[in-house]
Amino acid sequence: MSAMQTNSSLALSFLTLAENLQCLVNDVLFAKKLDEQDRLASFREAFHIPTVEDSESQSKERKSKIYLCSNSLGLEPKNTESKLLSHLETWKNRAVEGHFSGTEPWASIEDVPIPYLSKLVGALPSEITCMNSLTVNLHLFLLAFYRPTSKKYKILIEASAFPSDDYAIQSQILLHGYSPEESIIRVAPKEDGFLFSENDILEEIYNNVDSLCLVLLPGVHYLSGQVFPMEKIARTCQELSIFVGFDLAHAVGNIPLHLHDWGVDFACWCSYKYLCGGPGGIAGAFLHQRHSKKNIKELPRLVGWWANRRETRFQMKSDLDCSPGISGFQVSNPSVFSIVPVIAALQVFDRTSMSQIREKSVHLTGYLAFLIERELLDDVEIITPREPSQRGCQLSLRLKRHKLREIHEALTGRGVVCDTREPDVLRVAPFPLYNTYIEVLEFVQILSSILHSAEITVQEK
Ligand SMILES: *Cc1c(COP(=O)(O)O)cnc(C)c1O
Repeated sequence: MSAMQTNSSLALSFLTLAENLQCLVNDVLFAKKLDEQDRLASFREAFHIPTVEDSESQSKERKSKIYLCSNSLGLEPKNTESKLLSHLETWKNRAVEGHFSGTEPWASIEDVPIPYLSKLVGALPSEITCMNSLTVNLHLFLLAFYRPTSKKYKILIEASAFPSDDYAIQSQILLHGYSPEESIIRVAPKEDGFLFSENDILEEIYNNVDSLCLVLLPGVHYLSGQVFPMEKIARTCQELSIFVGFDLAHAVGNIPLHLHDWGVDFACWCSYKYLCGGPGGIAGAFLHQRHSKKNIKELPRLVGWWANRRETRFQMKSDLDCSPGISGFQVSNPSVFSIVPVIAALQVFDRTSMSQIREKSVHLTGYLAFLIERELLDDVEIITPREPSQRGCQLSLRLKRHKLREIHEALTGRGVVCDTREPDVLRVAPFPLYNTYIEVLEFVQILSSILHSAEITVQEK
């Protein structure tokens, strides 16, 4: 990949292009040109884009919605339906034989997504699997890695962590008879803000080295879209013999990851956000190779028959013949109808690469940030980091003078799909595999017209 663009190099490239084209950066011609130059443009065809309903009469000018909500649910790839149907056919026609026959036998179907996923997360194939859901995987890893003692019993997370992760951690601490109030260290964001500084995180780790058992942080923060310095954190924890895990819900499919090389102990992610694996799609899990030889006594865990080595699984012995590595963390046979859509989506991802996706993402989100900074800063603050290296595709916009509900409703009425986080944050995530530069421009125009509309309330704060 070419060197990461900076905020100012991006701005300069937009201004230079506009000069060459002799048009303005917010001209439709300009956005069209960017779409023409987009090497990933054809991927939009691989997805179903939600269409504008008749009731949303104000947006008649467009047939499809401007979908900026892949941070919550990625769109359905067009190949998903036929793939699901083919497995329904197998069930219909071959029933139980589907476990061991066909192109994707169910008894080993969790192998199918591995080659694709290993590239996306930077892991050896033997370090990852697809199983359960994200929070369940988090619990499974916490059971193995959070083994508190009277001296080392603390977990470090970020303040304003995603509630599911926070609840999981609190309940694990209680399970071991410790108190969440005393056992959780919450790194605070920088003063008055949403962003975390690398120094603050590392300092908290060093300051608590004697009592810290585990560090668990996000790869990309769900609220601000900030990318955490995963490599630095992982290496620091390794030096200090503290376990480190990452929640990659907002990172996978969004930014390049190198879990193996960074030395992360474990990680988990869901597949329905940027990975487009469908609502409730099967989640993913990573366990570093350095733990792969540890048996169930050395790395205690909760298991079921799927943790047994495949070769001896059906001997049905009461002694577990545990698979090495992450496979030995499996509990049940995977839900075929929640893994198949994930496979379908990963096959679309596999027609390009994470570095190409990232390159477009930096540029597309860079265009969005550039337009907002030029036109909307009186009303909107971008709380996401300014530098592209510190953000993924999402921008979080804090409304300075408007009511969140009112603005969100107006956007919805104009065929824009994005989401909100109370009290005043709009999250917008142009996703490089299907969003266009024209959509980014139209979104900014629509938001601008709403913010400046006489019918919308402006509150002086
Ligand atoms: C989306 C998300 C979850 C969702 O958890 P599920 O177990 O899939 O319901 C959890 N944590 C974070 C950080 C998320 O972004």
